[in-house]
Amino acid sequence: MRAMVLEGPHSPLMLRERGPPEPGPGQVLLKVRACAVCRTDLHVVDGDLPGIRHPIVPGHEVVAVVAACGPGVALDKGTRLGLPWLGWACGHCGFCSAGQENLCDTAKFTGYQLDGGYADYVVADARFCLPIPDSLDDVHAAPLLCAGLIGYRALRMCGDARRIGLYGFGAAAHLVAQAAIFEGRQCLAFVRPGDAPAIAFALELGCAWAGGSDQQPPEPLDAAIIFAPVGSLVPTALAAVRKGGTVICGGIHMSDIPSFPYALLWGERSIRSVANLTRADGVEFMRLAGRMPLRIEVETFRLTEANEALARLRRGDLTGAAVLVM
Ligand SMILES: [Zn+2]
Ligand SMILES: [Zn+2]
Repeated sequence: MRAMVLEGPHSPLMLRERGPPEPGPGQVLLKVRACAVCRTDLHVVDGDLPGIRHPIVPGHEVVAVVAACGPGVALDKGTRLGLPWLGWACGHCGFCSAGQENLCDTAKFTGYQLDGGYADYVVADARFCLPIPDSLDDVHAAPLLCAGLIGYRALRMCGDARRIGLYGFGAAAHLVAQAAIFEGRQCLAFVRPGDAPAIAFALELGCAWAGGSDQQPPEPLDAAIIFAPVGSLVPTALAAVRKGGTVICGGIHMSDIPSFPYALLWGERSIRSVANLTRADGVEFMRLAGRMPLRIEVETFRLTEANEALARLRRGDLTGAAVLVM
């Protein structure tokens, strides 16, 4: 089988041939059909995150079918499953017991500590695989598995906010905007100043307003979600939310947040982050995704073009999500 392998930080992924992995107890061997490229994959390549295992096969938005089952797993061959970022959690710590397996201290993540989907085959813990709605093909389902899911968890943290600002309008924001609008909320898109295509795209998807992140919204926001990994957007977003509003940081990594006057936080505004996902988020979001009309913007690449897909994402040269197709 082919795998695109990261052998050390800051190096390009290398195409390697290896034997398919053996599924152990509780695991499935999955034949990968599509794997979306996430900004986190860039942070993995750049060594921005602690505890990355090298060599590692990146990729945590995997749509695949069961090719073989390890001991204790009885799934039909050919069953389609999604493999997300959370690949394993202990199941018994305080976090896991409280429904916060996303915060488990010993959790393992796909494409980070566990080999991921930039390959023809991958093994996974069957308990952490997600169902995929039949209404979506492989390529369009792939970005749901992180961009969609993390966006959805961030949206849930907005509570009952009616007017939501989205900072950074890429793979995650274009999905969360549609989910929010489907729920009857209003979305405002804040893009890189001067990015006219992103503004047009946001308006096309039904956003009530779109403009540069250097602009103020026409009216204060109830909540804001920041997807761009840019710390200076935190005070910017705080200045755009009303009293009692929340700013949610949706990324796993962000540049430092500059100091800002307390007055921006005053008025019971809050800042919080979204970390990972739980299986419950995944099941709930996949159910919603199967019920709502979703326009999922993708650009496909061959597995061997993974480095190019990452470079395009780094340059901000993608509308929607890059998806590797095996
Ligand atoms: Zn745990
Ligand atoms: Zn991701």
